[in-house]
This record gives sequence, C-alpha cells and structure tokens, in this order.
Amino acid sequence: MLKDYYAILEIPQDANLAEIKSQYQKLLLIHHPDKQQQNQSLQQAPSAGPALIPLQDIKEAWECLRQPAQRAFYDSSLKAMKLRANGQVNDDIDLDDMEYNEDNGTYTSPCRCSGEYVVSEDELELGVDTVSCSTCSLIVRIHYEVADEEDDDRIGN
Ligand SMILES: [Zn+2]
Repeated sequence: MLKDYYAILEIPQDANLAEIKSQYQKLLLIHHPDKQQQNQSLQQAPSAGPALIPLQDIKEAWECLRQPAQRAFYDSSLKAMKLRANGQVNDDIDLDDMEYNEDNGTYTSPCRCSGEYVVSEDELELGVDTVSCSTCSLIVRIHYEVADEEDDDRIGN
C-alpha cells in the first residue's frame, strides 16, 4: 500500500516544486519532535491540536516528490492504487502469465484492446501491483509472490 504523499504534505497533486518545498519546510517545523513535546506539555489533552504526522513520512514524501522522474512514477502508482480502491480494476492476471522482456526488464500482457499492460521489475519491487493499459482505461491487478522474509509468518516457522 502506497502512502499518499500529497495527503501527508496537504498539497494538491498538481502542486509545483516551490509549493511542495515551502509546505515541506512548514510541516517540518510543526511536526518536529521537539515541537511536538512542547505542544504536548502545553496542552494536556492529547486529542487536541492537529494529528501528528511522523517526521519520517514528511521527509519520505519530500524526497520522492522533489525528483521529477520519481514523482512521475509515484503519480502513476498512486493513480493505479486509487483506481483499485475505487473498484475500477477490470481483471486479475498472474505474473507467471505475463511475457518477460529481458531487454528492459519488463513484463507485458496484451489487453483486449490492441494495447498492453506493462510493468517493470523496479515497479514490482516497489510493490506496484496494478497497471493501466497503455491505450485504453482498463486496469489489471497483477498477482505475484514476493520472495522475502515477510513471508515467514505465513509459513509458520
Ligand atoms: Zn486496453
């Protein structure tokens, strides 16, 4: 599940770099750990005041959005995630059924239109599992096994 960096930074998705930066700096001040402690001792009721955003999330959001290439990739992933959340996923496919292209490290699958679904290994590594068709608006969810330690509890070691 991707974090919504725009929601974290409280900015519109079309915010420009200057806007993102100034909002980032503003949030850094508001949510700085020292500041949070101060606020807590000032107002005894912990429920009062704005919800505390982990500083880590704010930094992570800025690090991603400040780089155009990374932001573009993030935007498309976020869009796919939201479409999925809205139940707009049209099909489920298995990664094993996709065609692997060694040249650029991507997996492709044909769409019912003449377009195709393309996902790269990098995207899969980042947890992307929904892809939209290159030409129409259909979206597929890709199923794949992630081979890492997080699967340990499922195996029941
Ligand atoms: Zn299509």
